[in-house]
Order: sequence, then structure tokens, then C-alpha cells
Amino acid sequence: MDIHAYLSQIDAARLQQGVFYLSHSPLPRRVMNWNIPGHALSTLEEADAWIAAQLASWGYAPERDDTQVRAFGRDFSKPLSQQYAAPPADAPWYTAHNVLAKKVGSLQPDQLIVIIAHKDSQSWIASPGANDNAIGSMAVLEIARVLADYQPRHSLWFIWCNEEHTPWTSVTAAQNIKAAGLDVLAALNTDGIGVKAPKDAGRLTNITRYTSPEGERLADMTIELNKRYHLGLEQSKFRGERPNDDDGSFINAGFPWAICNTGSIPYADPNYHAEGDTADKVDYANAAVTAKLVLAAVLHLDEYGRP
Ligand SMILES: [Zn+2]
Repeated sequence: MDIHAYLSQIDAARLQQGVFYLSHSPLPRRVMNWNIPGHALSTLEEADAWIAAQLASWGYAPERDDTQVRAFGRDFSKPLSQQYAAPPADAPWYTAHNVLAKKVGSLQPDQLIVIIAHKDSQSWIASPGANDNAIGSMAVLEIARVLADYQPRHSLWFIWCNEEHTPWTSVTAAQNIKAAGLDVLAALNTDGIGVKAPKDAGRLTNITRYTSPEGERLADMTIELNKRYHLGLEQSKFRGERPNDDDGSFINAGFPWAICNTGSIPYADPNYHAEGDTADKVDYANAAVTAKLVLAAVLHLDEYGRP
């Protein structure tokens, strides 16, 4: 297999067009609790429909599942980045969806390589959520596009979930996989890829966060793949204290081979969870290289199994 031929198809301009679609126009943000005036669907449901339509145009048969969620409340006494709070008692419930696209493996169909990103924006504040996490959603979508005609040995599941409403729908996805008796060979989360402090603009950064020994082996693999394919990332690994985010949902469901790729730890975006997290501030060149790294990891894992 010529991995380079796949990596070269990742297109930063497509990432940029998609992030603008999902976080600027026509969708200013992606939440269950706000519709564009006159539209029947919430902005998050409109985003789901757009992602599903893209997948269908490349030959996938996208699926979705259901989770009852609420928008977070807002605690103005906290710093802006941490103002999410428990929903008020009268907060309405919504049926939110994971969008899933699957390729069935030819040799190990019960072993899944999960490529996941949360697609929703912050439900407690009118943030576009461009870096958090329209860009990760677009990276997963771009990988799905590049692999549309690829015949995997293991099953590939692309999952777009929701992490800015409560509860997180990645928990539903991981538990459904467990209940179906399937195994997760690896779960690769992309969240805030390329995000860095303004003083670090121009650098190509990626940090692979892990919490389990198995995750550390995946992190070491990504460091090796960055070198092998001359991707040029400043790539490092970071051990988290406990399972967190959408990769953590897999660890908590009994699938320890899970990691998260992100641009900086601690998360260095001055507009984190704020109205200023806009599409013009996303580092698309960095995100495209990180998407190549995740794609290289998918292809490597499919060819050779776990590291
Ligand atoms: Zn996020």
C-alpha cells in the first residue's frame, strides 16, 4: 500500500471550506437549542444533515443513533472558558445524534478503528466553535473522503459526536459498540487540532494525549509515523490524569486503546469556549498535517494491527 498516495490527498482548502460552512455561513454554530430563524431543524441537526450528505456523495451509507441531551447552563461567575454548568431544572431535552459512517473490514470485521470528533459547538454560549471543534470534524470528514474507495482489513468507523451538550453522545457510541460485542482496535479522537498560543503562530504542533498504557503505545506510534512520513509536526505526547473527552468515553467503556490529538496542552486558544472562536482563526495548514498524521495512523493500524 502506498500510504503517501493517500496522505497527499488531504486538502487544507477543503478543511477551510468545511469549517466556514459549519461555523460561519450558512451555519453560525451547531447546537440543539438554537435554530436559524425560520428553519425547522436546529443548527446541530443541520450540521448533521450536511455531514451525512457529504458522506453519501462519496458512497457511504451514513447512520445515526439517538441520545437524549440538554444544553449546559451557564455560570457567569467562572472564567469564560469554564462557564458551562449543570442545566437548569426546566431545561428542555433534545434527541441528539451521532453521525456514523462505516467500512466493513475484509479480515477482522469485528475489530474497529474508530476515527472520532465532536461536531457540536458550545451549547451555553453563542460561540462558532471553529477550533473547538469544526476543524476536528472536518479532519475526520476529509479522512473519510480520502478513504472512500479504500478496502480495509479491519472495520473503519467514522463517528461525529457531541461533547458540548450533556450527556456526551460519544458515551452512547462506545457503549453501543460494547453491547454489540465488537472490539475497538484503536479510537483516534481529533479535537482542537493545530490550536496554539498566538506567540506560536506558524509552528506545526500536535500533542497526542493518552491516559492508559495502551494509549501511550499509540502515542509513540504517532510520533514514529510523523518521522517516517516526514510530516514535519512538532509532535509530542502527554499523559492525562484520567480518561477525558470523547476518547475517554471509549476507555470508560472498556476500550483502552484510545488517544486524542490536539494542538496544545494546556489548550492555548485565547478564544476557547468564547464568541471569538471563529473560522478565520483556524490554522488550516497545521490541521491538514495533523489530519495526515491521523490518516497515517489509520492505515498503519489497519495494515499492522496494534503497535
Ligand atoms: Zn472540544
